[in-house]
Amino acid sequence: MPVSYRDAMRAALLYLLLSVVWLQLSGHLLSSFFDESADLARWQRINGYAWVLISTALIFFSRSRLLRLLGADTWLRHQQEDRERLRQAAAVFDCTREGVLVSDRKGLIVHVNRAFIEITGYQQDEVLGHMPSMFKSGHHSADFYQAMFESLKNTGEWSGEIWNRRKCGEIYPQWQTIRAIHDDHGQLSHYVAVFSDISAIKDSEHELAHLAHHDPLTDLPNRLLFTDRAEQALASAQIHKRGCAMLMIDLDHFKMINDSLGHNIGDQLLKAVSTRLLDMFGPGITLARLGGDEFAVLAESCPQPGQAAALAQRIIDGLKEPFELADHQLFINASIGISLFPSDALSAEQLLRNADSALFKAKSTGRDGYALYTEELTAHAQQRVEIAFELRRALEQQELRVYYQPVHDLKSSRLIGVEALVRWEHPQRGLVSPAEFIPIAERTGLISEIDAWVMQQACRQMCEWQAAGVVLSFIAVNVSTRLFARRELYQQVAQVLHDTGLDPAFLELEVTESAVMDDPEVALEQMHRLRELGVRLAIDDFGTGYSSLLRLKRLPVQKLKIDQGFVAGLPWDEDDAAISRVIIALAQSMGMQVHAEGIEQEEQARFLLDHGCDLGQGYWFGRPVPAVQLDWNCAPQIH
Ligand code: C2E
Ligand code: MG
Ligand code: MG
Repeated sequence: MPVSYRDAMRAALLYLLLSVVWLQLSGHLLSSFFDESADLARWQRINGYAWVLISTALIFFSRSRLLRLLGADTWLRHQQEDRERLRQAAAVFDCTREGVLVSDRKGLIVHVNRAFIEITGYQQDEVLGHMPSMFKSGHHSADFYQAMFESLKNTGEWSGEIWNRRKCGEIYPQWQTIRAIHDDHGQLSHYVAVFSDISAIKDSEHELAHLAHHDPLTDLPNRLLFTDRAEQALASAQIHKRGCAMLMIDLDHFKMINDSLGHNIGDQLLKAVSTRLLDMFGPGITLARLGGDEFAVLAESCPQPGQAAALAQRIIDGLKEPFELADHQLFINASIGISLFPSDALSAEQLLRNADSALFKAKSTGRDGYALYTEELTAHAQQRVEIAFELRRALEQQELRVYYQPVHDLKSSRLIGVEALVRWEHPQRGLVSPAEFIPIAERTGLISEIDAWVMQQACRQMCEWQAAGVVLSFIAVNVSTRLFARRELYQQVAQVLHDTGLDPAFLELEVTESAVMDDPEVALEQMHRLRELGVRLAIDDFGTGYSSLLRLKRLPVQKLKIDQGFVAGLPWDEDDAAISRVIIALAQSMGMQVHAEGIEQEEQARFLLDHGCDLGQGYWFGRPVPAVQLDWNCAPQIH
């Protein structure tokens, strides 16, 4: 119970009064009892001691009441409690795993704990008196710090993730809480920052995210990530108008390997398959393991079914090489289903479903092969892939032939030139038309070898005819659009002329209209260079491209060949007749020769002759034949 000041005063007065009364009374009493001064002195001494004792007891009793009165006992108790609390706080401060940094109100560091030293790598004396900005990682923008200070100013607190730099230079994430501390007068006095190093958590978060998106065995993207990436790739393909292909690969009879050799070998095989597949692909191709023995591939730039089929074939062939695994040599085959974007489906999910049903088709038609989602495409693509493969062999095994088709002067009907046309004498399929294999050769790059070979053969043949006394004005050779765009064409032609010794004036190079107009500037330069060699130039299939007359005028070309598509309708089709007339007039006005191809009937030849066409070529005059079968005396008369 608290003691009031008046109580204390009253107690003190009472004590004084008691002392006086006691001393007076005891003095009288003692002197009345004891006459002897010695006894009196002794008793007075005893009385004194008794009073001292009573006083001590009273003082002791009142002291505690007095201290209570002054509040000093509370203060002392508080002091003691505070000391206890501080001791505890210091222990916590030092033992906690969280780093603690205390700075004064200017931000200068005044205290750090042991965990701080452990986490940051800095010693206490290296940081005291410095600003916490010395730990900045450069990871955050100025806006980030601005928001932090705003929050500290407005709410007195900030907490969040922050990337700082350890003494060793390593950047690491912290979860940090900063609190502003105010003194009794409400003035800002300190900041206390408590933080924990969350790099371990981050790592495991990262690991978890990785696990959630990857197949643990092969570390390839799983279905989730693959679908996500595919969606992104498709969105970009849509913008850039690119075609993509989704391939689903399934290993044939994988279950047998698993069952007979155990899951360990099965796992090793899956890993080896994924490594081999990854080695096969370059950028722009994503590989994923969808589960079990199923893999998926997304080819981001694969517009043609033929290209997708070629990729599938490459995968099938690539997996055929045996796998060497722990004393086992394993052979596996794969089946592949292909679905194309955008022709088969627009979403990744749908493409996967389509590829899956195509895979089913591939499996049901005997495995170890591929199938496209669209059936007609499968057959077509398969054929193209086969042709591409076989064409290389055809070149090596000399299965290509050059046929020659006569070109006649329409006025005199005389055979004045020939066009060299390539043929493929396929061991099983017989004579294959260039229309079938030239586009494939162009795509696979083989065209350059084929054209060089045909040119060589044709020039050599022309030399032989000349030596035999055959008089021909020219031998025409077709130049592929692909080759025409390349600089090496010039060297190639020069080389052939040099090797064969043919007078360049007898060699005519046919270039299609589209090849010329696709890149007119390159074409112009190329043509001028070829003209410097002394060869003649003709524009083939004229009327099918979109020639600019202005550009045409600038080309160093000696001949226009009217496309057979316009000749076919002559003389009755009015449009064909009008176009043919215009082309003839155009060529004449530009000083070029006009050459009509695809003449199958006399009426066509008649019409063309009547309208001033110079040369004619077609079945009516003669089909393309091997050199030895050419009939030099053939000169069908136009009536
Ligand atoms: P092109 O240069 O326009 O050749 C004319 C094509 O028309 C030839 O087809 C020829 O056989 C065909 N033809 C000729 N007269 C008639 C006719 O009266 N009626 C019909 N319906 N067709 C006729 P071919 O030999 O199948 O060649 C097709 C195309 O393949 C050629 O068209 C040419 O662009 C290309 N080509 C042929 N040989 C070569 C070559 O050695 N190199 C390159 N790059 N392309 C070649
Ligand atoms: Mg031609
Ligand atoms: Mg033609």
